[in-house]
Amino acid sequence: MSKEMVLVDDKGKRIDGRTSEESREIKIEAGVLKNADGSAYVEIGKNKVLAAVYGPRECHPRHLQNPTKAIVQCKYNMQAYSVDDRKRPGTDRRSIEISKIVSEALENVVLTGLYPRASIDVYIEILQANAGTRCAGLTAASVALADAGIPMKDIVASMAAGKADGHVLLDLNKEEDNFGEADVPMAIVPSTGEIVLLQMDGNMTREEFDRAIELGVGGCKKIYELQKDALKRRYSAEEAEEEDDSDEQ
Ligand code: ADP
Repeated sequence: MSKEMVLVDDKGKRIDGRTSEESREIKIEAGVLKNADGSAYVEIGKNKVLAAVYGPRECHPRHLQNPTKAIVQCKYNMQAYSVDDRKRPGTDRRSIEISKIVSEALENVVLTGLYPRASIDVYIEILQANAGTRCAGLTAASVALADAGIPMKDIVASMAAGKADGHVLLDLNKEEDNFGEADVPMAIVPSTGEIVLLQMDGNMTREEFDRAIELGVGGCKKIYELQKDALKRRYSAEEAEEEDDSDEQ
């Protein structure tokens, strides 16, 4: 792909047909893995992400135990087949960074004080990547935590905004992320408006940054509604199953 590629045309249309304020298509499902305490599957455009939660359980390694509260230990992993060229499997600097920022974002909402010395373990698997995987992973992890019944003050919703061809855009795709000017992933606690994740890669003016936050927060609010829908569907399905079981008895 050449650097001269047009990312936003004269009419403000993006290469996948979106306007600057539109996110990609979003699909969220809760409770997809039987053997995890909680789980979720998220698709955002071409991103496909799975999150699994275990705990609260005894914290290992033990030196990480905190006598006053639980810790949230997140492991973000990108599968070798998730990108165009095969990715070298295993941990790298990028996955360590993303695991850390996602853990920290989630520690803002989990009522960790209820579980001294414990660990809440969150696994994020990127099955298919197309930019925005840290946001999709964090969105999935929040739903998986709620699905596991972990007490939280709210769920975290995440989406990126950025800039390409001089336009501030919501939810960058891979081409916009690679060839654009800036990427601003963020996450909020929707009930309070608190920002629990904010990063920036690239350059933008103060005004563009403010606009990116405005667009991103709007995207996060949309994600929040879909997260709640996914959890409602999960629990209404469970209730229906329980009713079926009692009918049979
Ligand atoms: P995010 O996925 O949160 O946007 P980055 O901005 O670091 O994180 O990465 C943007 C995109 O670049 C990823 O979603 C993925 O499509 C691609 N990418 C990241 N790391 C690799 C890698 N090691 N090999 C190939 N593609 C990668």
